[in-house]
Amino acid sequence: MLFIDKIINAGNCELVIKWNDGKQQILKAYFLQANCPCVSCQMGDAWIKEDVKINKFVVKARLGLQIVFSSGCQKGIYSFNQIRSWLKDL
Ligand SMILES: [Zn+2]
Repeated sequence: MLFIDKIINAGNCELVIKWNDGKQQILKAYFLQANCPCVSCQMGDAWIKEDVKINKFVVKARLGLQIVFSSGCQKGIYSFNQIRSWLKDL
């Protein structure tokens, strides 16, 4: 089963995710909020800024990853499967 082994918040603007199968994934804060599953973010893009930062993140066992953005959004929980689906196998 896939799960996140470790996350580094690099410069508050991107997450470096290490998966338990050894793969590494880098996700920008802007990309994450643009794909945020919470209702406010889904309703309109206007307040999603390219310089948004990640204030905090919490790994919720079995649920996914919750991210608190500098823009105020903190309700989005990204499932591990969704995050992993953004990883391009090169
Ligand atoms: Zn959101």
